[in-house]
Amino acid sequence: MAFWLCGASHGMSEARLNVLCGVDEAWCMTMEKAFETRAGIDISMVRKSTGDILDQIRTEKSHPTVDVWWGGTGDAHLQAASEDLLDRYQPDHEHDMLPWAQNFFAMSGSRSAAIYAGALGFAYNSDLLAALKLPAPTCWQDLTKEAYRGHIQSGNPNSSGTAFTMLATLVQLLGEEEAFRYMAALNRNIVEYTRSGAAPVKAAARGEILIGISFMHDAVTLKEAGAPLVIVAPCEGTGYEIGAVSIVKGSRNARAAQAFVDFALSPEGQATGAAAGQNQVPSNAKAALPPAAPDITMIKMVDYDFATFGLSDERSRLLTRFDAEISPTQ
Ligand code: PLP
Repeated sequence: MAFWLCGASHGMSEARLNVLCGVDEAWCMTMEKAFETRAGIDISMVRKSTGDILDQIRTEKSHPTVDVWWGGTGDAHLQAASEDLLDRYQPDHEHDMLPWAQNFFAMSGSRSAAIYAGALGFAYNSDLLAALKLPAPTCWQDLTKEAYRGHIQSGNPNSSGTAFTMLATLVQLLGEEEAFRYMAALNRNIVEYTRSGAAPVKAAARGEILIGISFMHDAVTLKEAGAPLVIVAPCEGTGYEIGAVSIVKGSRNARAAQAFVDFALSPEGQATGAAAGQNQVPSNAKAALPPAAPDITMIKMVDYDFATFGLSDERSRLLTRFDAEISPTQ
């Protein structure tokens, strides 16, 4: 029986579980309550962007304060795995995972498990587009057109997993030199690089900006809540994320951390996403697909190379180049 089903009644004396959460705040809170109720274990759940979580876990390597990293783009989890920052753990539900999730787990050396997948894209505010009398963008290349100067927000790839996924996607779609030429052209239209990757599409939903580059499932959630967003799967093709969960090496609450991972991969734990209005594709074959989740089989998708873009050296190299050639990070 899974440990979390045993709960506190089996003498678990460990302290609060410290979880860093990389998904939307609404899901972080729903998950916190669901796990506390199910397992009888208190959680401290803090939302941070992917790159910020990776930096914190690196900094705290010799004295970890975090037990579990839940959510956030999988390539950063793989980077942490390759730096020996994560513990090996074989989750209860691993055998029920979809093939892409099982591949991800194997690639991590059993240190990180996939919890969902979702495609990258962008979304624009259709009310603002009409008011500005601008054409509708449908491709990555459209975003570099002068008509959109000052009208686009993106995350900063140093902190945002969304934006790092975009950078890696463009390198895979166009080749590295062309991708950096593209980023330089796009940079002329970017009004701000935000710390969080979810912020741009939220700004577009509120009508503060025309176009936000984001994961499509983030935009679906906002559209379902009534925002006048049109969601675009770019015509050239796009990349995707595999969101992941990992136990931080040196966690002082190892059994509770394992219980959290088991819950996160169970159909019950995966359903917390849809309950919080999220629209990613769950990794467990037995979990229900949120009704509004984008059909990722219908989107032209790069065969995202997690092995390469999950390497720490590759990440550092691309980020150094981004800072030097596109936009220095403050
Ligand atoms: N939004 C959602 C719904 C996510 O699942 C994730 C995680 O991978 C992100 C955003 C990424 O956030 P950030 O770009 O701030 O790292």
